[in-house]
Amino acid sequence: MRLLVVEDDPDLNRQLVTALTEAGYAVDTAFDGEEGHFLGDTEPYDAVILDLGLPQMDGISVLEKWRRDERNMPVLILTARDRWSDKVAGMDAGADDYVAKPFHMEEILARVRALLRRSAGHAKNEIEVGSLRLDTRTSRVTVDGTPIKLTSHEYRLLSYLMHHQGRVVSRTELVEHLYDQDFDRDSNTIEVFVGRLRKKLPSELIETVRGLGYCLGSASDET
Ligand code: CA
Repeated sequence: MRLLVVEDDPDLNRQLVTALTEAGYAVDTAFDGEEGHFLGDTEPYDAVILDLGLPQMDGISVLEKWRRDERNMPVLILTARDRWSDKVAGMDAGADDYVAKPFHMEEILARVRALLRRSAGHAKNEIEVGSLRLDTRTSRVTVDGTPIKLTSHEYRLLSYLMHHQGRVVSRTELVEHLYDQDFDRDSNTIEVFVGRLRKKLPSELIETVRGLGYCLGSASDET
């Protein structure tokens, strides 16, 4: 999953990027409203964390512009604790959730998890495909209850496929959603990671759809 953080406070920006990266997300970052708006307009993010008080273009304007242009990714806004009117304006502008400053990083992580799974159509923290189970809170993956050890890249890939189970996901989409903008984007690396995942998971679980991409848990498996 790939996220965008738009926050002008350098310390806070860094703390957010560090925590989200450690949690297994690919993270791009912007320090003002214009740069943030541009990235959100041109790159396919799974969710955005948007501060409201930003130089060059304020967060509400950024959000309104995105929504006018049909940019529908989930957006979590950061508001000042005592400004209830900011929360109302933010939600009305198209925000999906808000966190008031100062916040605990755990709250941000929990809200981002909820936004990501809800936008993919999952209400629960645990996502299951057959005997495979992923707990998005702990990043734990099990097969028939047995924990599977994955590297962070393998986990990102599997998590994305599980969030979008039953749908064919192209290599391009995977590259765009698993790596930040500075990553050397070579879709061959995706094949390498899929190969490694297949060795750790029940065979046949990740299906290759020739010329299109990969599909985890075909629709016919769902009961
Ligand atoms: Ca600010």
